[in-house]
Amino acid sequence: MNEIPKSHPRYKSLSERKLIEDGFEKGIIAKAGLIAHGRGETFYYLLGEKTNKETKKQINAAAAMLLLAKKPVLSVNGNTTALCAKEISVLSDSVPAEIEVNLFYKTPKRIKLIEKEFSKHGKKILGTKPTKKIHGLKSKRKDIDEKGQWEADVVLVMLEDGDRTEYLKKMGKKIIAIDLNPLSRTAQKADITITDNVTQCIPLLTEKIIKLRKKSTKELEEIIKNFKNKKILKKTEEQIRKGKMR
Ligand code: ATP
Repeated sequence: MNEIPKSHPRYKSLSERKLIEDGFEKGIIAKAGLIAHGRGETFYYLLGEKTNKETKKQINAAAAMLLLAKKPVLSVNGNTTALCAKEISVLSDSVPAEIEVNLFYKTPKRIKLIEKEFSKHGKKILGTKPTKKIHGLKSKRKDIDEKGQWEADVVLVMLEDGDRTEYLKKMGKKIIAIDLNPLSRTAQKADITITDNVTQCIPLLTEKIIKLRKKSTKELEEIIKNFKNKKILKKTEEQIRKGKMR
């Protein structure tokens, strides 16, 4: 990453682009992952490349939901692995929650590479030999681990397509989504959507979980009760449209 000076105003975005390029070259990221990243970068730019006030409310609610969950699972793909496997591993310890790989363009090689990345952070992930299916879903993302998403009551999905969120919800799961696009089907269908860059909000989510651990079940339930996902998404969309974030 020597070629990008830290003083560059878009240093963070440019260094992430490098992580994505490296992930693609290693085979962790599929071609479609490059396109998804580009879509994310656009929204990140429009959102001012920072975590705003509304996002902090989303993170607060997500932390409460993860702490209240009986069986929370963090679902990862190629992009999230290349961008922030370490931060996801730390988040999983803080909850604690299982990590499960789930790929649209699934190959044994990609699964192995992703498993290897997480093992560097001491994490054994689920989803490498899935035996269960998400009812109704057609894509390869339907394959899930019996000990993971199948049993989960709360699933955190990141950079996701809307279909899986919809079908997981039909199975009775609560969904927390991280998606920079407030208009995406995933963002709209999730119970709690964090409209922020994964690399930026995951460490903030971990911090929040550590802070909220002291709260009672009743206090955590109150946070969720007062959280209105659709209202915050609408506000975020309006702020983007008015060019308020930059
Ligand atoms: P949907 O089916 O939900 O309408 P989609 O077809 O755009 O969405 P994908 O192709 O899986 O689904 O897109 C991935 C989503 O992830 C996009 O909405 C994109 O803005 C978002 N995204 C990309 N990079 C990041 C990132 N680093 N952090 C958070 N979100 C991201």
